[in-house]
Amino acid sequence: SAVFLKEPSKYPVAGEHIGVELKQLNTDLHDGQILLRNLYISLDPYLRNRMKDVVSYVPSYKTGEPLDSHGIAEVVESKNSKWPVGSLVVGPTIRWEERSVVGANAELEIIPAESLDPRIPLSAHIGVLGMPGYTAYGSLLEIGKPKAGETIFISAASGAVGQLVGQIAKLKGLRVIGSAGSDDKVEYLLKELKFDAAFNYKRGSILENLRAAAPEGIDIYYENVGGETLEAVLEVIKAHGRIIACGMISEYNNGKDTYNVKNLVNIVLKRLKMEGFLVYEFGEVVKKRFEREVSEWLKNGEIVYREDIAQGLDNAPDAFVGLFHGRNFGKGVVKIADL
Ligand code: NDP
Repeated sequence: SAVFLKEPSKYPVAGEHIGVELKQLNTDLHDGQILLRNLYISLDPYLRNRMKDVVSYVPSYKTGEPLDSHGIAEVVESKNSKWPVGSLVVGPTIRWEERSVVGANAELEIIPAESLDPRIPLSAHIGVLGMPGYTAYGSLLEIGKPKAGETIFISAASGAVGQLVGQIAKLKGLRVIGSAGSDDKVEYLLKELKFDAAFNYKRGSILENLRAAAPEGIDIYYENVGGETLEAVLEVIKAHGRIIACGMISEYNNGKDTYNVKNLVNIVLKRLKMEGFLVYEFGEVVKKRFEREVSEWLKNGEIVYREDIAQGLDNAPDAFVGLFHGRNFGKGVVKIADL
């Protein structure tokens, strides 16, 4: 079976425009091709923008073709010496189908044997050790340049990116505050991730919650959601504060109802620095350092990482839509098959 786009949809994402159907795959391989058995696919907010018929930094999905995203697969047949049978591969365009035939120019990296550590789940290669992990590590350290003693506030803090940002910030000696959309998530931030303060942004005023958590203001805001949270931050952040603009998920489905942030003038008055980025812009040196440091932290227990794994492609559309309602608790992943 495969998950595909039925029709482009502007908003809101309700799931009715992505569907699952059975398709017969021709598995005869030409020279250079391989047959993949797909194991895990990653659910990422940016895929929502690929479901719109717009020009963006990533190509839109084509109606009727399987979706694709970061994923992990096993090579089960091969006519390409780059990817021998039995290799486990990770790549940004694994199709949301059980098996895929791909050609020599597929973007696939073999997961090296030394990275397959029993203390680390295979799915980590699309989570904490994959794109979201690299996003968190690269942007916090390269853009945020955090210093011990500073205060950082992170929105969507229990999610794929947020939970790693918070833990790295703790390791670097910052005071860490997070917001999330349920009491369970807030408890996870405080008890498991050892955040210094956290609040449920759906309870009471975001501004008052943030003021109470950061009476002396914040130095760095790690922006994942936009909208009302950004507005509250612009009130509470200190002069010369930095904003790492990672994403604004509250805007991805809004269309014409985009939230009108009323106090952008604070960027001028407080001489703030706000910098956006796209993951993979940090270069090979940072990437290698990320892979080495984060896998060490995971192995020695200095960081933990929560995943929310949906079982089977049939559940992929619902699990994807769940990202936009906060139904995922941790990194959203779909398991297609056991290794
Ligand atoms: P998450 O695992 O954090 O999942 C998304 C979470 O966002 C939900 O669980 C929910 O958590 C929260 N959310 C959903 N809708 C809203 C809303 N309307 N208002 C506030 N919060 C909402 O996702 P990721 O960690 O993968 O992504 C986090 C952000 O990082 C996204 O904005 C994403 O686009 C961005 N990103 C950017 C990259 C880049 O290169 N710039 C790369 C990767 C990610 P809750 O229950 O707490 O509301």
